[in-house]
Amino acid sequence: MRLVLLGPPGCGKGTQAKRLQEIFGIVQLSTGDMLRAEVAAASDTGLKAAAIMQGGQLVPDAMIIALIKARVDQPDCRNGFILDGFPRTLAQAEALDAMLAARHLDLDRVLAIEVDDEDIVTRIGGRFSCSRCGALYHDVFNRPKQDGKCDACGATEFTRRPDDTAETVRKRLQTYHAQTAPIIEYYGRKGLVRSVDGSGAIAEITEKLTVAIREGTRVD
Ligand code: AMP
Repeated sequence: MRLVLLGPPGCGKGTQAKRLQEIFGIVQLSTGDMLRAEVAAASDTGLKAAAIMQGGQLVPDAMIIALIKARVDQPDCRNGFILDGFPRTLAQAEALDAMLAARHLDLDRVLAIEVDDEDIVTRIGGRFSCSRCGALYHDVFNRPKQDGKCDACGATEFTRRPDDTAETVRKRLQTYHAQTAPIIEYYGRKGLVRSVDGSGAIAEITEKLTVAIREGTRVD
């Protein structure tokens, strides 16, 4: 099964993608995580991407498409994948179509998570992740069961993303509306989109996404 998860920054894509990968046994491919790994490794790609990410803009299509191309042919993608944060432009959506067509593959579903802009800044302001395993948390909505200790791996160090500042978030929202939202229409014309309300409890949203994925896909 091959899925795309769309939605504004802070709508819960990453959290939901991690849950869906467990439920459906397919791998989460987050271009944001791939870029952050490149930045941490100070690779050529990372050095080019860091300032763009901090400015709330999109890195060049060619750079992202190269990262995804290298990733989808890895053995762990054989059962399928959930694309989280890709595609983000029409050019990326078209490149994805071409990439899949060349492999005789299709997309099964595009899930659009909807959250109002006013809620985004609050939601992003509180988020942090485990420095060791990347598990995602939130100061208000999703705290670790034991304060200061990761539920998933027990680590005690956490990080906050440098691009989660109010100023960068506003820019990321503008970028989303200008460049990414139009691809919902692109996939809508193909009949692939299911929209899900992204407010409410994390588990409820997972349930809605699961139903939307199962409806009319090859999965029973
Ligand atoms: P994310 O973790 O998905 O919020 O991505 C963090 C940042 O990485 C974005 O604000 C962009 O600067 C960059 N980025 C991630 N995915 C893409 C993409 N598909 N195209 C362009 N830039 C991206």
